[in-house]
Amino acid sequence: MKRIAITGGKGGTGKSTFAVLLAYKLLKEGKKVVLCDADVECPNDHLILGKGLEFPEPVYQKIPVIDPGECRKCGLCVRECRFNALFQLPGKPPSVVENLCCGCGLCWTICPHGAISKRNKECGKSYETRIEKDFWLVTGLSSAGVEETGPIVRDTKIRAEEVAKKVGADYLLVDTAAGTHCDVINALMRNEKAYVVTEPTILGEHDSELILKLLDVIGIPKEIVLNKAGVASKKGVEKVAEKFETKISFEIPYSEELVKAYCRGNLRGLDLL
Ligand code: SF4
Ligand code: SF4
Repeated sequence: MKRIAITGGKGGTGKSTFAVLLAYKLLKEGKKVVLCDADVECPNDHLILGKGLEFPEPVYQKIPVIDPGECRKCGLCVRECRFNALFQLPGKPPSVVENLCCGCGLCWTICPHGAISKRNKECGKSYETRIEKDFWLVTGLSSAGVEETGPIVRDTKIRAEEVAKKVGADYLLVDTAAGTHCDVINALMRNEKAYVVTEPTILGEHDSELILKLLDVIGIPKEIVLNKAGVASKKGVEKVAEKFETKISFEIPYSEELVKAYCRGNLRGLDLL
């Protein structure tokens, strides 16, 4: 099974549109495809596909529980938590700010007095939707107010892998969030290639450089997809491609036909790749 990420440094460049167009292109070639929507704070592949989210499964993360009877109030866990998810009033055991905790486990590992246990907290859900005969969508969605969404990306990818293995998929496509933050890195890992979707604007060029740099750091081969091609010169994007020793593999024209299909939630049948 081939694993391909669809990413982009900037939001709104058309990552999800390209992910869906790519899935349909592969289906047309007779492949079985699982698309994983790992943009868990605002997943929208299902909207572009005109489908609902089905078969929810909760995603849990571990949250520390501090035993005030065992805690010696040494403050070590508070000092070491990189997420500022623990705070301590003078003379009191630490308190946990749950929405900031990513469940990394550092605090309960380092507490020298065994005063920290852990419990499960639901932080989001993953969903599985069958789009058509050879096409499945697995979607992650964080609960409202959750700041640390890493566990949802992780579990959504695991579920997508399971679905892909179960159905014998030829391709697992992973649609990441925009940007270069931890959730994007998490979604990119284990893919053998990434398409960076950008647009012919100064912001598009700038942000695509950031994600291309990141892909070089984590060692994933990359190619560029130029969306909204034709609205401005592509020279800037070509320069970026040259700088990062890659190429523009696809150009998606800015067309009324695509906008209308996008609004209807039905990109099937568009021959744009
Ligand atoms: S490291 Fe353990 S003993 Fe020290 S403040 Fe934290 S919970 Fe209490
Ligand atoms: S699990 Fe990690 S993020 Fe959460 S409170 Fe402990 S050290 Fe901080």
